[in-house]
Amino acid sequence: MTTVKEEMYDVLIVGAGLAGLSAAKVIDSTELSYCVLEAAERAGGKVKSGCNNQGDYCLELGAQFVNPDMTEMVRLIEESGMTLSETETGAGSVFLNAKTLSPINDFIESVEEKLGREDRKGKRSLSETIEGWKISEEEKRIAKSFFTEEATVDTDSILADSFFDVSERYESQLDDLSHQASGQLNTLIDHMIESLKQPVLFNHAVDSVSKQADSYKVTVSSGQSYYAKAVIIAIPPTVAKAVAFDEQLSEYYQPLLDSYVDGAVIKHTFSYPKAFWQELELKDSLVSVEGVVFSNYRGLSISDSSKKGEAPRLTAFTGGDLARKWAKKTEDERKMFVLERLSSVFGKRAGSYTDFRESIWVDHPYCGGGYSAQIHTKGHPDAAHKLRSPHGQVVFASTEVAEAFPGFMEGAVRSGKRAAKAIIKN
Ligand SMILES: Cc1cc2nc3c(=O)[nH]c(=O)nc-3n(C[C@H](O)[C@H](O)[C@H](O)COP(=O)(O)OP(=O)(O)OC[C@H]3O[C@@H](n4cnc5c(N)ncnc54)[C@H](O)[C@@H]3O)c2cc1C
Repeated sequence: MTTVKEEMYDVLIVGAGLAGLSAAKVIDSTELSYCVLEAAERAGGKVKSGCNNQGDYCLELGAQFVNPDMTEMVRLIEESGMTLSETETGAGSVFLNAKTLSPINDFIESVEEKLGREDRKGKRSLSETIEGWKISEEEKRIAKSFFTEEATVDTDSILADSFFDVSERYESQLDDLSHQASGQLNTLIDHMIESLKQPVLFNHAVDSVSKQADSYKVTVSSGQSYYAKAVIIAIPPTVAKAVAFDEQLSEYYQPLLDSYVDGAVIKHTFSYPKAFWQELELKDSLVSVEGVVFSNYRGLSISDSSKKGEAPRLTAFTGGDLARKWAKKTEDERKMFVLERLSSVFGKRAGSYTDFRESIWVDHPYCGGGYSAQIHTKGHPDAAHKLRSPHGQVVFASTEVAEAFPGFMEGAVRSGKRAAKAIIKN
C-alpha cells in the first residue's frame, strides 16, 4: 500500500488561468510556500491559441484582443517577447446594423453612455432597462443583441444593476478590440509558468475545500489532500459551484456563487485573400466595416479581427442563448448559419473564405462558458465584492470579481494580483 504524502503550504492556488498564475507570481516573489493546482492538462483557461484548420497559421480560440489601457496585459505581452499590434481595420471603420446596413457607432456610444447614467433599481433585468429607454423597437433589438454578445449572457437574464457596475469597471475610453499580441497568447501563459519557481500541478481538479483548526484542507479528484494556511480560489464562480465546501464555508459562499449564471459563446473565424469588408459599397458610398450587429439574432456580432502581416479575417461571435442553441447542432450547420449571415451583409464574397475555425465555449467543466459569468436577476448585486474580499483566509480571484476590466483578461490578471496581496496582508 502506498502512503500519500500530505503537503502543508502557506498558500494553495486553485486554477492556472490568468487569475491563478498572476496570484502565483505575487506569492512567488515572497518567502511564502505555495502550490498551484490546475484541473486541466494545460494552463491558460479561456486563453487558448490554436491553428487554422489547414494548420498554416495561428489564431486565438479564446481571448484575443487587448487595448493599451490594459496595462497588466501589455506588460505581460512585452515580458513574453511580443509586442502590441494594432488590429488592422480600415480607416474610419463603422459598425453596421445587419438589417438596415446603416452605421450604428453613434447609437452604440449613446446606449453605453445611458448605462452609465442609469439609477440602481433593484432586481430588474437588463432587457427591462432597455425596454424603458425612449428609442425605437429596432434600436431596442440592436441594444439587446449588442449587450448579449458583450456579456455572453442574454440581457433577459442579466441583473441590470450588476451590468452597470461591470460597465463602470471597464476603466478605458478605448475600444476593447483595438489591439492584439503580435504572437500567440499561449506564449504569454508559458512565460508566466516558466517565471514561477514552483511547477504547476496539472490534472489536479480540486473537489473539496474545508476548514481545519488553523489551516484548510483541499482535496483533488485523485483523493490526495493538500493543506495550507490560505487558499486563493482562482476559478470562475459558476465553476466553483461544483466544489464541495464544508458547511461553514458553504453557508457563506454558496449564495454568492449561486448569484452567477454562466456565459456561452461560439467563435467562428473566416480568413479571406482580401479584406473586401474594408471597401464595401453601401448606398452609393464606400465604407470600411469594422463590425456588424444582428438585431434579429440576439447575441450575434461580426468583427474585423485582421492581424498585421496575416491573412485578413472576420470573426463571428455568437453569445448567450443563441450560442447554447447552436452548440447542440453540428459544426456544418453552425458554419452555414454564420456564412448565411455574412452573405446577407457582404454578398457572395463571404463564401470566398480560404480557411475557417470554430471554437465553442459553452458549459466547459473547468472554464464555464462565454467571456465570463454574469450576475442573474435573482443574484446578490455585491457578490463580486464579497468574493474578492478575504473570508478567513480564503479569497476568490477571477475576471468576474475583478475591480477593473471584469470580463477581460486584464481583469483576471488584476484580480489574481489583488487576491494574493490581500492574503499576504492578512
Ligand atoms: C471565446 C472567448 C473570447 C474572449 N475574448 C477576449 C478578448 O478578446 N479580450 C479579453 O481581454 N478577454 C477575452 N475573453 C475573456 C478572457 O478569456 C477571460 O476573462 C480570462 O481569460 C479569464 O481568466 P480567469 O483566470 O478568470 O479564468 P479561466 O480562464 O476560466 O481560468 C480558470 C482556470 O481554473 C481551472 N480550474 C477550474 N476549476 C478547477 C478546479 N476545480 N480545480 C483546479 N483548477 C480548476 C481551469 O481549468 C482554468 O485553467 C474571451 C473569452 C472567450 C472564451
